[in-house]
Amino acid sequence: MSTPGAEENLNARQERPDAYWRMRRRERARDCSVLAIGAMAVLIILALSGGLGWIEALTGSLVIGAGALAYYVGSTPTSAGPPDHLIQEKKQVSVAADNEIEAVIATLPLPAFSVSRAGRLLAINEQAQRVFRVQGGIGALASSIIRSPDLLDAIEQVGRTGEGAAFEFVISGAADEVWLAHIARQASAEGGVLAVLEERTGMRRAEKARADFLANASHELRTPLTSLAGFIETMRGPAKDDKASWDRFLDIMYEQTERMRRLISDLLSLSRIELSEHEAPDRVVDLAGIATRQVEALRPLAEERGVTIEVDAPDRELPVLALRDEMTQVVQNFLSNALKYSPDGGRVLLSCGIAPSMDDALGSAGRVWEEAGRMTLLNAPAVEGPGVWVRVEDAGPGIDRQHLPRLGERFYRVDESRASAVGGIGLGLAIVKHIMTRHRGGLVVESSPGKGSGFGVWLPMSTTDAKSNPKVSV
Ligand code: ADP
Repeated sequence: MSTPGAEENLNARQERPDAYWRMRRRERARDCSVLAIGAMAVLIILALSGGLGWIEALTGSLVIGAGALAYYVGSTPTSAGPPDHLIQEKKQVSVAADNEIEAVIATLPLPAFSVSRAGRLLAINEQAQRVFRVQGGIGALASSIIRSPDLLDAIEQVGRTGEGAAFEFVISGAADEVWLAHIARQASAEGGVLAVLEERTGMRRAEKARADFLANASHELRTPLTSLAGFIETMRGPAKDDKASWDRFLDIMYEQTERMRRLISDLLSLSRIELSEHEAPDRVVDLAGIATRQVEALRPLAEERGVTIEVDAPDRELPVLALRDEMTQVVQNFLSNALKYSPDGGRVLLSCGIAPSMDDALGSAGRVWEEAGRMTLLNAPAVEGPGVWVRVEDAGPGIDRQHLPRLGERFYRVDESRASAVGGIGLGLAIVKHIMTRHRGGLVVESSPGKGSGFGVWLPMSTTDAKSNPKVSV
């Protein structure tokens, strides 16, 4: 513990060192003179009273004066002198401050570390060790642990100038991580730098996704609009009197308008699903009923294309806790893709059923063809009990293995020209993925290029069947 007087001295010595040392020398000279003059006065009194000879008194005075001078020169502190008790005290104060910072760093819930003026790690907590993928590291050169030269520069600059800063940096890896470092110089004697990190990856990704989404949506709308404007111009100009071509132009214009209508309807579905994503479904519906009704709704379109749709469903209900409209949309998106990508005269099969466990349900939904590439695009959370599955397969062109992981990303199309030719926008599977997330289910795809594709979903079976539940909607 330091006394208040010692603390004042310490402050004066730090703030105005020259004035401090001048004052200390003056004090020492005053003490020595008082002592020497006092002793000499005693000798003179003794000489006057005859107790001491004048020669002895004079010699004594000279010896005392020289001694006092020697003591003054030898003991007067100088600014360059060796550490005294004040320096010792200051050291103790700074060690205590450093220990405190280490303790704070260890207990912080955020990644944090401190670096000495010499560029060595003074402290680093476990979270920060995980960020930099190291174990320990105290005493090591910060540059051997922090692999971001920009962050090291920022730390060095804060150490030098004392001005705190917030600095964003990227840790490269399989998936780049974005972090924001809040950097400040410590108030301790070591003059080290303290850095606390805040993860920004999710925020930056969301910003990028939003920007990409807007760019994609505008692009998708601009293409048919440009085409429409082009046809209108042609019909008003060069083809003004060519009424025979008008029918063909109007057909294409209708297709483009339909494309925009579909895009807007998909965008609206997506935003509606996102808005209500936190609301859990509270009705038991029969998935087999929903699926077979969708098949009937799309049969005329299939017949137009010469495609046959077959159904393989058990003769019983498939009760699931779900939103009827959303499950209808899942089946509709699968079926319309299968129809879109089926060759003329092709065959589409919709199958559904109950499996003893969720794992078995995944097997029935997406592990059917032996030599196909497959990918689980959304994993269902682990739930005990039976699962219900639906699968739609076609004999279309199939999808190359390398594209499978990206299906379900908004606006992702495997073959842009082929997808556009059949009116594909790349939102259908993204919508299915969202719906299945809300229903605690999964989405799986398997495909053999040249042979066909199979898309399936699975979700927990409800223990209440659709007819006996008061909230039933069959
Ligand atoms: P869209 O069909 O509107 O383009 P989706 O999200 O439903 O959007 O599908 C994304 C992409 O996946 C499609 O563009 C297409 O390339 C591919 N795809 C989906 N279903 C099939 C299928 N049954 N056969 C072949 N490719 C498919």
